[in-house]
Amino acid sequence: MSRLSIRNVGKTFPGLRGKPSTQALQPVSLEVADNDFITVLGPSGCGKSTLLRLVAGLETPSEGQILLDGQPVYEPGADRGVVFQSYTLFPWLTVRQNICFGLREKNMPAAQQREISEHFIEKVRLRGFEDHYPKQLSGGMQQRVAIARALANDPKILLLDEPFGALDNQTRVLMQELLLGIWESARKTVLFVTHDIDEAIFMASRVAVFSARPGRIKADVPVNLPHPRHYTMKTTPEFMELKARLTEEIRAETLASAEH
Ligand code: ADP
Repeated sequence: MSRLSIRNVGKTFPGLRGKPSTQALQPVSLEVADNDFITVLGPSGCGKSTLLRLVAGLETPSEGQILLDGQPVYEPGADRGVVFQSYTLFPWLTVRQNICFGLREKNMPAAQQREISEHFIEKVRLRGFEDHYPKQLSGGMQQRVAIARALANDPKILLLDEPFGALDNQTRVLMQELLLGIWESARKTVLFVTHDIDEAIFMASRVAVFSARPGRIKADVPVNLPHPRHYTMKTTPEFMELKARLTEEIRAETLASAEH
């Protein structure tokens, strides 16, 4: 079981060298239930990454509280697996060593580390690349290692910040299907930040739509599309209907931020 409660969490960054402070996030509340796949959708600069970094424990809220299974979050922890848009693998470690990094930190016996890494190498389809170094991999492959590394620690929740944002469109679609496939079988609780409307709908069980900065959740939209999902679903009337609604919501916010 893992339940994330974001309760009236706001964030204001102090201004440096006499500059005015920046309110990145108005107080937002979001309940993420066990096995939920929530996408956080909003225009650029609305505070999505800030919210994710707060849940990751990389930033401290200016107000409100974040609870994971009832325990307050105040620093990063192995119970939250994080994947960022930029490639964050350790360049001096191989694919397998990257995946095992957290397990080694926990002093897990080598045989068990091997078993877990084998499982995830298979899951993210990197068989044959176990001994490669990050610089020998494409961007999509590096993100697959990052996902495997996060999942290998068996976190309570997976936090992803535009994880496919730097990939070309074809690779991005393949990665979406791969991550969904893993979620459909492993049933993790996921919080996924994106500014891409198609991606937000395709991946989610619920879309939390953000307003322009300072962000607040202006709509919480359930996505009742069946699983397993295949990219061809993006042309179904149900998908298009959701897309039209969310496009309107985001357009209003993008216009609002352009007027600031
Ligand atoms: P998004 O992920 O939706 O693009 P961010 O959460 O990255 O938005 O940023 C929201 C706002 O907060 C932006 O105006 C950004 O410049 C500001 N911001 C983010 N991080 C910091 C920081 N460490 N210090 C000052 N301002 C920041």
